[in-house]
Amino acid sequence: MKEQKLKRKASLERAEVLRKSIDDYLKIRDSIPKGLELEDEYKKNKKHILKVLKANEEDWNDYKWQLKNRVSDIETLNKLIDLSNEEKSSIEKVGKKYRWAISPYYISLMHKNDKYDPIRMLSIPSIIEIVDEVGDNDPMGEEYTNPAGSITRRYPDRLIINVTNECAMYCRHCQRRRNIGQVDNHTNTELINESINYIKNNPEIRDVLITGGDPLTLSDDRLEWILKSLKEIPHVEYIRIGSRTLVTMPQRITDSLVDMLKKYHPIYINSHFNHPKEITTESKEACEKLTNAGIPLGNQAVLLNGINNDKYIMRSLNHELLKIRVKPYYIFHAKHVKGTTHFNTSVDDGIEIMEYLRGYTSGMAIPTYIINAPKGQGKTPILPEYLISRGKDYIMIRTWEGKVLKYENHPTIDIKKVY
Ligand SMILES: *Cc1c(COP(=O)(O)O)cnc(C)c1O
Ligand code: SF4
Repeated sequence: MKEQKLKRKASLERAEVLRKSIDDYLKIRDSIPKGLELEDEYKKNKKHILKVLKANEEDWNDYKWQLKNRVSDIETLNKLIDLSNEEKSSIEKVGKKYRWAISPYYISLMHKNDKYDPIRMLSIPSIIEIVDEVGDNDPMGEEYTNPAGSITRRYPDRLIINVTNECAMYCRHCQRRRNIGQVDNHTNTELINESINYIKNNPEIRDVLITGGDPLTLSDDRLEWILKSLKEIPHVEYIRIGSRTLVTMPQRITDSLVDMLKKYHPIYINSHFNHPKEITTESKEACEKLTNAGIPLGNQAVLLNGINNDKYIMRSLNHELLKIRVKPYYIFHAKHVKGTTHFNTSVDDGIEIMEYLRGYTSGMAIPTYIINAPKGQGKTPILPEYLISRGKDYIMIRTWEGKVLKYENHPTIDIKKVY
């Protein structure tokens, strides 16, 4: 009896220590702006945008309207949100070199005048982009990993097909900025056929990623033709689609798109949410349509200075994602791409974020932090050190709370000798 009481007391004390270890997060959590809590503000913005663009609710919900009405001139943008003279002049100058266009939906998530609003920083050109002289144009070395058509192959059993350079919004941090150019350009049929033939002729390819630009800017028919061609190849085991439309134009996820996609299972979709402000009622509904059709959703965030290089914002983002059934998959370290280097962070920022995920929150909420090795040498996971050192029959490990422990480690014995 006495022993039981002591155990209970120790457990209660431990629970108190555990709670205290996230006190800092609990204090800050509510002050992080989240799209699902900003619904009223977003609705008000939408109403204003519809009025200025002389459109109605039906237009808004039609992705073709969203795509056609991407805002890409200063005059219109200035009617939808407040721009300072400085901002106007930056957009004008940057626009000559780098394309910009923003879906009306994504504009509805913007703060009216705060230039540090993450939605604005992610989508409105900044003068820094053309002042930047340090970045590379092709740090991925994509030109050297293109064996056929519009394929990028960096791995033994999987590859990507690039099907378009068009997006619903041109992210200011885009790492493929070189391909975005100034005009929409869907990959032509010849190049796609060449890509499909390459996959046919290389039976070790079992996983194909469709990417861009944003593949969901293609029509349902065009996309279906690609999916069907891939599905007919017996060694392709599943297909993945990378799209940011769940974030920038959730209207794209129509019932007919979903009905089409589910004919080609197994299909996986990876999205690209960077900030909790991007997770809205509309994106939630779009995600639900896909998950209800049996399409698992993942998220690939990019670690961006001033947007999400913060252990609390990242934790909150991953929680918000799981609430809408999107599994955090990767956090990419931002590469040194010309015109985007103001978004670069140190690797230490990424390691700190990872340090304060493991243990502090669900394993479900922990993506892998990835550095893309230069020249297309592949994704490389970066973790805080948990394996501290190794001895003959032991290793030293470090727990999430920073305790260093000795852990026995013996060679694996031959199972057949003992079983
Ligand atoms: C990212 C990527 C993949 C997929 O990598 P996973 O780690 O399997 O998600 C495949 N091919 C290329 C060229 C890539 O850049
Ligand atoms: S959606 Fe992707 S490809 Fe398109 S601009 Fe953004 S990061 Fe680049």
